[in-house]
Amino acid sequence: MPELPEVETIKKQLGKYLVGHKILSVDVRVKKLFPKNQEKLVGAKIKGTRRFGKVLVVDLDNGFSFLVHLKLTGQLIYSGGKVKNQPNKFTHVVFDFDKDANLFFNDSRKFGWIKVEETSEVEQEAFIKKLGPEPLRDLTLKKFQTILTSSRRPIKVFLLDQARISGVGNIYDNDALWLARILPQRPANSLNAKEAKKLYLAVNEVLQKGLKYQGASDQWYLTAEGKKGSYQDHFLVYGRQGKPCLNCRKEKIRKVRLGGRGTYFCPKCQK
Ligand SMILES: [Zn+2]
Repeated sequence: MPELPEVETIKKQLGKYLVGHKILSVDVRVKKLFPKNQEKLVGAKIKGTRRFGKVLVVDLDNGFSFLVHLKLTGQLIYSGGKVKNQPNKFTHVVFDFDKDANLFFNDSRKFGWIKVEETSEVEQEAFIKKLGPEPLRDLTLKKFQTILTSSRRPIKVFLLDQARISGVGNIYDNDALWLARILPQRPANSLNAKEAKKLYLAVNEVLQKGLKYQGASDQWYLTAEGKKGSYQDHFLVYGRQGKPCLNCRKEKIRKVRLGGRGTYFCPKCQK
């Protein structure tokens, strides 16, 4: 699932390409992905893009915005000017812009969605309102330490809870815990101050790395330019089961399921 670095990359690129474009039409081919209010977008110009956790917001000049959640397999692909892309069999919504540009919403599993909202109401949306503080934005070390003390759930599962901390998904969660040398199974409130600080710095570091490489394209994710990110070439522990640990070079990375998600760790380095 696209996480903070992936959605942020899309947000930045769409900000660059879409701003100033006028929406001429919206062709919804699979209704459940974009059930209503498409007509509110037609004729409006794009003003800017924002991101809340994993939700992308595109603001228009007519008082409306549209919100996009890519869920597991969604892609937002721009085509226009020098950026050439084509729709495919997974293209379920097509935005037609002036100056011969398009935006394709592709989604093989069809779990993603698009929703129209008044711009002034966006931050009141239930799922945006309930998002916890975000690393690299408003999650301070102090807040992080306080949040950790509130739960006995495994730290790995806890970090995925968007209501506690927003933007961290499974890839960066696994890599951050490995980088901080903390076992994913540890109860969140068992971390001491030193460990919490190490993990805080590790979360920031892996997300920054994710941004630098424009996200991880190990599965469906593509940038808005239709290109792959390259963080998957720099995974620290995620997806490395059976391979030697990149730290101790001895122990093999183990994979277990924790809270229903693939969890990777080095039993020797992570404590
Ligand atoms: Zn190791």
